[in-house]
Amino acid sequence: MIDLALKQALRSQCRHRVGAVLLAGRRVIAASPNRRRNDPAVSFLHATFHAEEVVLRRAGRTTGSAVYVARVDAVGAARLAKPCPRCQVALIAAGVSRAYYTVDPHTIGTLDLDSLSLKPTRISSI
Ligand SMILES: [Zn+2]
Repeated sequence: MIDLALKQALRSQCRHRVGAVLLAGRRVIAASPNRRRNDPAVSFLHATFHAEEVVLRRAGRTTGSAVYVARVDAVGAARLAKPCPRCQVALIAAGVSRAYYTVDPHTIGTLDLDSLSLKPTRISSI
């Protein structure tokens, strides 16, 4: 499935080419490269362009799904594509369980989003 994300990344028109694929079981529910803000396909109301955010917006039910994220460099080789903090928050809020991302051409990283918490911590308990 990381191959599908790499394929999406290669389609990107952005300087940093990232692609994301959202899967429910073995079924692809959304796939997209990152998008420029001025892309007609990107709503200004939700002027986001990270690939993860594009697939979340396109997908319906995302609870329990997995996202595959890939980034490619100028020659198309896989590079680190760990979801940024903003996307991690969006993925967790959407109930996505796991993120798999390219680290380099030979390595895939995993983020267990179910185990990351969005719950606020009381200052007095720190
Ligand atoms: Zn992001």
